[in-house]
Amino acid sequence: MNIKKVKLEDISKTKRPTLGDEVPVEVFRLLRIIGMYSILGEGSGYTLYLAGKELGVELEVNTVDELGTLLKKLKIGILTVVESSDDRIVIRLDECITCSGLPDIGKMICHFEGGIIAGAMERVLKRPTKGVQTKSHTSGFDYCEFQIHLL
Ligand SMILES: [Zn+2]
Repeated sequence: MNIKKVKLEDISKTKRPTLGDEVPVEVFRLLRIIGMYSILGEGSGYTLYLAGKELGVELEVNTVDELGTLLKKLKIGILTVVESSDDRIVIRLDECITCSGLPDIGKMICHFEGGIIAGAMERVLKRPTKGVQTKSHTSGFDYCEFQIHLL
């Protein structure tokens, strides 16, 4: 049997004439939060971050603005650059697909989004990055924040 990997460009091909190409945020979260955590377990954050980063590097974006436009189009969130220096960029994500509206559970769970942003920034800036989430709805804020360290 010839097993192939689903490629990034294949993901957007949907064949759903009745249901269309959108799903409720609720369904996404079932898969993203409950599904992934039950498969990968608690402490899966770093794995999810790495998966997100691998994806982020592959995104067809060449500027921070293009990344913001794409994240908005995909309804992942609304990106704003809060602070930018030679070694660090602070990014705010409003209406985060994973955590927006969730209660404060005392931890941050948007590792995948952090990875996507860090990976995309690596591509845009052509410098290695490390993303760290510093704020989240699930840690008591009403937006997400990621520090992207430029290595
Ligand atoms: Zn979030």
